[in-house]
Amino acid sequence: MPHRAVVIGAGLAGMLAAAALSATVDEVVVVERDDLPDGPDHRKGLPQGRHAHLLMPGGLAAMEELIPGVSVRGALLAAGAHEVPLGSGMLALTPEGWLRRWRDGGPRMVTCSRALLDWLVRDLVRERAGVRIVQGRVLGLAGSGERVRGVRVETDGGHEEFTADLVVEAGGRGSRITAWLAELGVPDVREKTVDAGLVNATRLYRTPAGAEDFPLTVVQANPYVSRPGRSGMVLPIEGGRWMVSLAGTRGGEPPADPEGFLRYTLDLPHPIVGRLISGAEPLGEVHVSRSTKNTRRYLERVRRWPEGLVVLGDAVATFNPAYGQGMSVAAQGAVGLLRELERGGVGAPGLARRVQRRAARAVEAAWASAVGQDIWFPDVRGGRPGLGDRLITRYSRRLTGSATSSHEAAKVLWDVTSLRTGPTRLLRPDAVLAALTGPLLPPLSGPPMTPAERKILAELDRTGGELAGKA
Ligand SMILES: Cc1cc2nc3c(=O)[nH]c(=O)nc-3n(C[C@H](O)[C@H](O)[C@H](O)COP(=O)(O)OP(=O)(O)OC[C@H]3O[C@@H](n4cnc5c(N)ncnc54)[C@H](O)[C@@H]3O)c2cc1C
Repeated sequence: MPHRAVVIGAGLAGMLAAAALSATVDEVVVVERDDLPDGPDHRKGLPQGRHAHLLMPGGLAAMEELIPGVSVRGALLAAGAHEVPLGSGMLALTPEGWLRRWRDGGPRMVTCSRALLDWLVRDLVRERAGVRIVQGRVLGLAGSGERVRGVRVETDGGHEEFTADLVVEAGGRGSRITAWLAELGVPDVREKTVDAGLVNATRLYRTPAGAEDFPLTVVQANPYVSRPGRSGMVLPIEGGRWMVSLAGTRGGEPPADPEGFLRYTLDLPHPIVGRLISGAEPLGEVHVSRSTKNTRRYLERVRRWPEGLVVLGDAVATFNPAYGQGMSVAAQGAVGLLRELERGGVGAPGLARRVQRRAARAVEAAWASAVGQDIWFPDVRGGRPGLGDRLITRYSRRLTGSATSSHEAAKVLWDVTSLRTGPTRLLRPDAVLAALTGPLLPPLSGPPMTPAERKILAELDRTGGELAGKA
């Protein structure tokens, strides 16, 4: 008998799950409530798409694995995305100081608009055998607490039930999965939220002529100074644009008005972001988002998990976006689904539970890193540092401090932030040695720019004498 799967949501997790399923399932129906654009355009159901999205190498590798036969990287670059080597392509101020830049650029992340990434992945997956997207809003699950057998959908034509051998819930951060499970008599889903009150504000600018190769520039928030976190980033994206994203935790939120936006960038621990954009042409208004909590559903711990249901992407866990992890974790979760399908096919007993456990492993590392930092911000809700956190933080700060001036330590950080390896990488002997040794050189007093980059910055800077002595 032909097998059918239903995927809820045509975001990244949903489309990547569809790609995984298309290798073994005859028909994959993706149900999406939004009217999907035909090009790389913003859409209502993806409000976070207005903000900066970094695609880490670990996430890109997972996507390449899920969509074989095509180079996702090649397609993104051909569409105007940028590739940024973590070790040489950034000016980054961390809580421990400016990172040096190395000739060995290390792993590369991809930067582009979220709209471009989603459209491209959607198109590549839609071409795969058996995959189709249907417009409709999923209202709940069909079946029982032992086995999910489909979904209840509201379409233009009324209400319908779509039956399936496997349902993948990939409805994103607003997922109603806990309520849907409770309706089937599966009530015991534990949830945890750690909320630093983060607000994101983003504005697009035209990349100034001559600044096309200027490094990605980021001033990170500092969780360790008992003040609200404030950060800013200038990210190159397709179409000759800079995406400038600011983020502030409770008490340090960025404003939505253009003057306030610029003022905020100039008041960051270093004014480089403000100096860069003071001479750049804005394209449109400032967009603000507020729903950026760390939230985790411990679905893998539910005592009796139903057969026929898998939950992936933000529906499982969301993270403070400053760490650039959500899309990569969604892709790694979909790889977990692919692995289990390869082992026993869609009908294998216990498949859903095993996929959920694999997805939880991908979540765990990202959760530890995001929450491990967010708990230090003032007025954070839902978590506070314990003894273990203090020890881990001391160690990771020391390693980051070493990474400002030691290539060996920098390589360890690239491995972890690129999501190519898990956090146990931090405990390998070379990492421990680098952390114990500490920084090998004195801290940099400012961003490590080349003479050509200094000239670009000076030419763009319209802040005048106001910043004398600050930069
Ligand atoms: C401000 C911000 C910045 C971020 N920056 C980064 C970054 O730099 N790097 C990174 O990796 N991640 C980042 N993220 C996280 C990233 O956006 C998410 O992890 C990613 O979108 C998860 O994909 P998803 O498919 O699970 O959910 P989504 O992309 O939200 O997709 C869910 C889809 O499901 C649809 N849907 C929902 N409910 C239903 C329903 N009932 N019926 C039918 N359809 C439904 C929605 O319309 C939507 O299309 C950021 C997040 C935010 C908020």
